[in-house]
Formats: sequence, C-alpha cells, structure tokens
Amino acid sequence: MSIIFGPVASRRFGKSLGIDLSPGRKQCNFDCVYCELDPAKTMDRYEEIVSVETVIDAVAEGLRTHQDIDVLTVTANGEPTLYPYLEELTKGLDRIKGSVKTLILSNASTIHRSEIRRTLARFDTVKLSLDCATPRCFRRIDRPEASVDLEGIKEGMLAFRQEYAGTLIVEILVVAGINDKAEEVEALNDYLLQLNPERIDLGTIDRPPAYSVQPVSYERLRELSLHFDPSLSVHITSRKDLGALTPSSYSREEILDTLRKRPLTPEDVTLLFDEPSRRRLRDLLQERKVRLEENHGVNFYRPA
Ligand code: SF4
Repeated sequence: MSIIFGPVASRRFGKSLGIDLSPGRKQCNFDCVYCELDPAKTMDRYEEIVSVETVIDAVAEGLRTHQDIDVLTVTANGEPTLYPYLEELTKGLDRIKGSVKTLILSNASTIHRSEIRRTLARFDTVKLSLDCATPRCFRRIDRPEASVDLEGIKEGMLAFRQEYAGTLIVEILVVAGINDKAEEVEALNDYLLQLNPERIDLGTIDRPPAYSVQPVSYERLRELSLHFDPSLSVHITSRKDLGALTPSSYSREEILDTLRKRPLTPEDVTLLFDEPSRRRLRDLLQERKVRLEENHGVNFYRPA
C-alpha cells in the first residue's frame, strides 16, 4: 500500500508526484469498461479510509525526497472525491506544498455538490472526465452507481466553471462502438460549447481494460476531433495504431485550412505531415501566417 507514487515526468505538468487516496483497493462509484483496474463493485463512499495525517506525512516525506516536484497530483485507485476528508486534506497540502502546484483527476460524479466544488476550487488544475453527454451512452461506458446522475454532473460542471478561477480540463476517453458515434460526439460538442473548458483531452484505451472493449485508432480520434467546434481546444492524447498511418502531403492552403478547423500539436504534425509539408509549415511560421501557441502546457499550431 503506497500513498505516494512517482515522480513521473509529464510534458504538460512537469514533474508530478502522485497521491493515491485509496491505496489499498479500488473504491469507485463508476466501473468504467476501460478502467485500468480490475472490475469492482461500485460504492458511493469509501469503505477503507486512510487518515489525513497519514497522507500529509507521506506527501511531506515525498517532497523532502524529491525537491524538484512541479505538481502534486491527487488521484486514487477509484474516485478521489469520495474520500471523506478531501477538504481537510487540500488545506493540509496547501500548508506543506510551498510553490508546488496541485492537480486533481476526478470522474466528476460528485460535482453537483457545492461543498465538493468548493474543495475542487482549491486546486490549480482540475481534470474532469466526461465520456458521454447522453444518459444511455454514459451508463454503458462508465457503468456508474445507481445514484449517479448525468444531468447532475453536467449542471455541476457548468456551475463549477462559473465559480472556478483555475484551469479546467475535460478528458474524453473514446471506446470503439460506444462513444465514437457521430450523435455522441455531437452531444458532447454541444455541451462542451456551453462549458468552454480550457482544454479537452481526447484519448482512447492505452492499457489493458477491465472489460472486453477496443480502442480506436489515432486516425479515428483525429476524425472525431474535427467534429468539435474549432473554438474548443481539443488535444489528442493517444497515439494508437500508428503503424497504419502514412504521413500526407499538404499544400500551404491545406495547412491553413486544416489548422482553421482544428489546431495541431507538433506531435500531430510529425504524424500527419510528410517532410515537404513540414517545411511548408515552417515557412508559414516564419511568414507569421501560423503561430505556435501554448495552451496550459500543450503547444498548438494555429493560423495567425
Ligand atoms: S472512474 Fe476511474 S477508477 Fe473509476 S472505474 Fe472509471 S476509470 Fe476506473
């Protein structure tokens, strides 16, 4: 049982020290088909609880051992907002962390509760999952506890957006045959246009999943990303099945047109563009027709 894990290097957040609030076993109110942990009975509250003091002592020790940490990432073998002393814990972290930033990864299931929103608002960055915006799809992919309500999540996220001054990131995990359909992406797009988070991370299954489900390819993620409104900052995080991908040739106009529809990261460009197209992109950058812009730790090429 280890509360602290890492440090792990993250391009987006720097050097991160992980804090697991459920180190003994999976404790979650979802049983997602794609979960990296084994399937488990859902619960609406933790049954095994580590004391705040134990967590804070472990974090303090971790920060002493690793003095170059950029961010403390609160997560769990399960859902961290089910930890009953989260507010007390965040206050304790604030006391010992110095200039280190804080990040929490949550499935958003409890965000309809104002006291949870108040606690989440203490973090520098909050990353919330939202795999589907329609109830049937949500229940199929996230397999939540009966008490979890998608409308409550959506309303809670909108309320949080109004109240929160930090960086809000939404993560969508795409599973083949479930939330990769046009109508599901459309419903997510409509909702996310209202929410307007700083960034949307679009990924797929990268590690062995709890249930027998399949990832989608990078190409498919890219196709899906084009269905989101260009005003939304969508970042493709998975690089699945790249063997099948052959870089293509883009004219200058095609590059500008592609970036108008969906800004690309340097990694996307490496995958999608052949060498002459990359040269054209460099020319466009020099001519200031394209700019490289940082969005909360991720660089995007955009039309100037
Ligand atoms: S919310 Fe996270 S921990 Fe819970 S089942 Fe889904 S992927 Fe697993």
